[in-house]
Amino acid sequence: MTDVAIIGGGPAGLMAAEVLATAGCRVTIYDGMPSVARKLLLAGKSGLNLTHSEPYQRFVTRYHPAEHALITALDAFRPDDLIAWANTLGADCFVGSSGRVFPKAMKASPLLRAWLRRLASLGITVKTRHRWIGFSGKNLICETPDGRLEVAGDAILFALGGASWPRLGSDAAWVEPFRTAGVDVADLRPANVGFDVAWDGLFIERFAGTPVKSVTATSDAGTTPGEFVISRHGIEGSLVYAHSASLRDRLDHDGKANFVIDLVPGRTAERLARDLARQDAKASFSNQLRKGAGLDGVKATLVRLFSTEEERHDPARLTARLKALPIPLVRIRPIEEAISSAGGIRFDSIDARFMLKARPGTFVAGEMLDWEAPTGGYLLTACMATGRAAARGIIDWLESR
Ligand SMILES: Cc1cc2nc3c(=O)[nH]c(=O)nc-3n(C[C@H](O)[C@H](O)[C@H](O)COP(=O)(O)OP(=O)(O)OC[C@H]3O[C@@H](n4cnc5c(N)ncnc54)[C@H](O)[C@@H]3O)c2cc1C
Repeated sequence: MTDVAIIGGGPAGLMAAEVLATAGCRVTIYDGMPSVARKLLLAGKSGLNLTHSEPYQRFVTRYHPAEHALITALDAFRPDDLIAWANTLGADCFVGSSGRVFPKAMKASPLLRAWLRRLASLGITVKTRHRWIGFSGKNLICETPDGRLEVAGDAILFALGGASWPRLGSDAAWVEPFRTAGVDVADLRPANVGFDVAWDGLFIERFAGTPVKSVTATSDAGTTPGEFVISRHGIEGSLVYAHSASLRDRLDHDGKANFVIDLVPGRTAERLARDLARQDAKASFSNQLRKGAGLDGVKATLVRLFSTEEERHDPARLTARLKALPIPLVRIRPIEEAISSAGGIRFDSIDARFMLKARPGTFVAGEMLDWEAPTGGYLLTACMATGRAAARGIIDWLESR
């Protein structure tokens, strides 16, 4: 029997363990935390968006960069496969209004409990509080409550996650030892995250926590409808996350970026201009905006903040502002707050089996690889798909030896 050591018990590592143990390998999972899959449990707090129901041809366009190995892994474990797999764990799923797929329980704990029971029944050993700290020749060194331990295996899989929410276990401390071992790792950057905006104190007091609903946002990523939330620091929420990668790249490249929103997406510019021009010029700006464009509250205040006096007095220029209001971004929020991270092990550093070229017999999967995707279930799907692909790569490699 072959022994496989998996370091990291998140969705990628657990999925790889299931495939390997089902194929007859003796699997031990090592995790630095007192329990596994803490980030999966946290994802459950917002309903556990497992995957997305849009047509698969569109689904795969969400991943950047669209690396061949990643797409091949997704081809082999599509959203329908994930839903069928979740069903086998007793998690019936439903499709939400935006096409996102959730378990009916809207949390992760029942699914995780059933999954861990299955893994135990397959004979998998889970060793928590075993933190990998580096390589020792072919073996690994883990820090444990009983001191340092050398770990060996016929094959090793790392599924250590990215760098967001480090207190849940994925702190990206693996980056330096991997680079020292000759693995090319792109810097980890925040993804699916908010931005700082220079709000004044009064605005924060009035509107922090307020949703801005039924708008569209435009960036290099295209135009998407949705909503976002005013935070104490700036802006966050699903519509911001959908554009956060392109806004982040623009901030990095140009040193400045605007979150551009259409506050009246249901009306054409021509119609809106007509509606605004029809307003009594002597009425207050608030009344003109409310009657002419249907805007009040936080939306009207945003218009005041990010338009000039001249624009407010000219229906044509005001229309242009309302259809493309630029909210200037100061900086991206820290990676610790992000839903996920971009960057990681470059696909050039692995082969088609997800094996590190610099360390034959060592495989990698999940968010520690260099890909990113928006929220919508794309993250978990790819973590599980690459976990499965790496497990199959291990089986293939072990058989070929
Ligand atoms: C708030 C929040 C909500 C989210 N919601 C969703 C959602 O609804 N849908 C979705 O698709 N995605 C969601 N995600 C993202 C998703 O949870 C992650 O992309 C996914 O968990 C990554 O899986 P992974 O197995 O690659 O890594 P992780 O889940 O991060 O697991 C890595 C594991 O490795 C362990 N580890 C790390 N370093 C070491 C070490 N040195 N030694 C030993 N063990 C180590 C960690 O303790 C951890 O258990 C959310 C993320 C957050 C933060």
